[in-house]
Amino acid sequence: MENFEISPLITETEIQKKVAELGATLSDKFKNQDDVVFICVLKGSLIFYSDLIREIELDVKCDFLGLSSYKNTGTSSGEVKLTLDLSTNVEGKEVVVVEDIVDTGLTMNYLLRMLEARRPKNITTVTLLRKPDAIKEECQIDHVGFDIPNDFVVGYGLDYGEQYRNLPFIGQVASLN
Ligand code: 5GP
Repeated sequence: MENFEISPLITETEIQKKVAELGATLSDKFKNQDDVVFICVLKGSLIFYSDLIREIELDVKCDFLGLSSYKNTGTSSGEVKLTLDLSTNVEGKEVVVVEDIVDTGLTMNYLLRMLEARRPKNITTVTLLRKPDAIKEECQIDHVGFDIPNDFVVGYGLDYGEQYRNLPFIGQVASLN
């Protein structure tokens, strides 16, 4: 896609409101739990994760996983590669997986299989965005920010060829050709 424009889909204000709501829900859900680990799935969820954990009114631990499922082309490769592993042991812990977007569901299922093998006490999944019309594999999604159309989006952590992650809003990428 050489010639394209980015049109706003979800504003900064709408995102902030939703993140605060999700933070309140999760704070309530885990208020009686020790050992809650929030996992940031890099790179896409870096900004959502940073905002979300600051809305959690509890002591939580943070850890990071790197996954790569797109090859900078805007279309799913269907392949998921682990680029960074957790640095802590999650066995027996409450784990919260924080994803930017669930598209086909392949990445979330890969992640869940990998984490379940490490025997956490429980896994909760949170995603800022979900594309209901793109789903190929049913997967466990416990908390969703926004359901969006099956279009490619950027901003608020999401990239197109490693660019646009720093946009403060979510925008739809539309070809001008
Ligand atoms: P899935 O495995 O569910 O098809 O895709 C999940 C991953 O693909 C996300 O974590 C994200 O990195 C990437 N992805 C899916 N849809 C989009 C999109 O519209 N924009 C961007 N930038 N990445 C996407």
